[in-house]
Amino acid sequence: MLMPSTGRFVPRRAYIEEAALSYPLGRYIVERLKDLGVPAQVLKRGERPKVPGKNPTQVYEEAKRTLVVRVRKDRDFATCKPSAHYQLPLVSSCPGLCEYCYLQTTLGPRPYVRVYANIEEILATAKSLVQTRLPQETVFEGSATSDPLAIEHLTGSLAKAIEFFSGLEGSRFRFVTKFSGVEPILGLSHGRRTTARVSVNADYVIRTFEHNTSPLEERLRALSLLRGAGYPVGVMIGPVITFDGWEDGYRDLMERLRTALQCEPSLASGVQAVPFELITHRFTGSAKKNILSVFPGTKLPLDENDRKVKFGQFGYTKYVYPEEKMDAIREFFRKEIDRIPGAYVHYLV
Ligand code: SF4
Repeated sequence: MLMPSTGRFVPRRAYIEEAALSYPLGRYIVERLKDLGVPAQVLKRGERPKVPGKNPTQVYEEAKRTLVVRVRKDRDFATCKPSAHYQLPLVSSCPGLCEYCYLQTTLGPRPYVRVYANIEEILATAKSLVQTRLPQETVFEGSATSDPLAIEHLTGSLAKAIEFFSGLEGSRFRFVTKFSGVEPILGLSHGRRTTARVSVNADYVIRTFEHNTSPLEERLRALSLLRGAGYPVGVMIGPVITFDGWEDGYRDLMERLRTALQCEPSLASGVQAVPFELITHRFTGSAKKNILSVFPGTKLPLDENDRKVKFGQFGYTKYVYPEEKMDAIREFFRKEIDRIPGAYVHYLV
């Protein structure tokens, strides 16, 4: 389903809402699907996509191989504190099968990859939100419920958003990805208003838990290319997991990041700041239940006895690493990140 050398996802099936065909993007996606030989069915009003599968694992995996093209009717954007003001709804879900992904809890047992055909209307809403807040800047997050780069070759939505924000005074856009197919966005005029973040992890974590995503080496190459194309870039490491030998595993990652972030001599502006966002592994009771139902043989560390209980702001309980482990993680990454020119810890939670 994923061609690792290009990071390109080919769906097994697609469903197109009838209304989506009246938008240029809906029709464009249908053409791309035809080129790839993907069977596509038009959904009449009220009809639902169908996915095969005899158990929760199969249904989940098949849903991730199913593309649904919809019209987003809701004109409101969800807020996205603290990293941005609003989520930009381009896509929801993604073809990746990361065992720890929080979308398992929020998108339910059938996380179809949904793309919205009415992108012009969505961007028009973004523009009016920016204008209402002027002269304050408004930041939009493109990856709050998805990894939009994973299906960019089918949609072109991310490119449209990047070019749109490049000319919109008072706006900023950001997205994060575990995929490496950055070529379609390298030559765009971005006006440095889009921050492209690449999500990486120790090789062990990627190989064990991040199925159907791009390998580490390709993500690092994507990071270099984005930086070379003049995008402000960032690095996300999440979840940080203290597996056996974690320090060696993450030291190797940091070494490779150092090489990938070496400044291109062609970058006139010299060393650019590179924020690092680090999120340690945590889970809730319901996330654990979902993970065990979809990935019954998971090697994720999900034993509550090894964790400290933390009460979340929305009233739920999460299990985080105990304080002494958190101290070791903080110390390790602060030291390693200090060794990369321009890099700094934006946050470590
Ligand atoms: S790539 Fe991101 S959005 Fe997709 S499954 Fe993995 S963690 Fe979830």
